[in-house]
Amino acid sequence: MLIYLLLFLSSPGLTQGPNLVELQGEPFVIELQYLRADNFLKKNVYGAFGLKGCYVRPELHKKLSALAPTLKQNKKKLVFWDCYRPLKVQEAMWKLVPEPRYVADPKIGSNHNRGAAIDVALADEQGKLLKFPTPFDDFSPKASPQYVCSENEKEQCQNRDFLIQLLASVGLEVFPTEWWHYQLPKAEKLPVIPTFEGAK
Ligand SMILES: [Zn+2]
Repeated sequence: MLIYLLLFLSSPGLTQGPNLVELQGEPFVIELQYLRADNFLKKNVYGAFGLKGCYVRPELHKKLSALAPTLKQNKKKLVFWDCYRPLKVQEAMWKLVPEPRYVADPKIGSNHNRGAAIDVALADEQGKLLKFPTPFDDFSPKASPQYVCSENEKEQCQNRDFLIQLLASVGLEVFPTEWWHYQLPKAEKLPVIPTFEGAK
């Protein structure tokens, strides 16, 4: 009996954390920015791990799915730039940019490694990205959700504020320095998921 219990406890399913769920279909657009080379790392860090989709924890998947009617009513799409990120990718990113201001130390783990964070923006019905105060992974003060837009940037701040309110409506919190990053409350208390069958 004990041997079966030990085998059960050491099975990969238990050590690899909860099953992540893939987010896909209208009105969601998946454009993973680390699956291409024109990001701030100047490297496609997802290709080698076979990660091509947007995976999140089940409770986050439920919250995001609940946004579909509001997005459709407002003739908008939610664009995903990053979702679950395997720990090995975090280690590869840290090797390229070992600077905690830009990349989370893999020893601590990013909430993306927990399947509890997403990087998103909005697009119109045709899939054209709306205007925002900065592009993705811009590390200037303009990336702060509190940045006050100048007179000729009003549209950018309106879109950002709509996004923040939209995600707050399902209980997701915006990151204090990145208008595009949202996460589950107390996400840092959730376990890091090193890898899973959808991203090896
Ligand atoms: Zn993020």
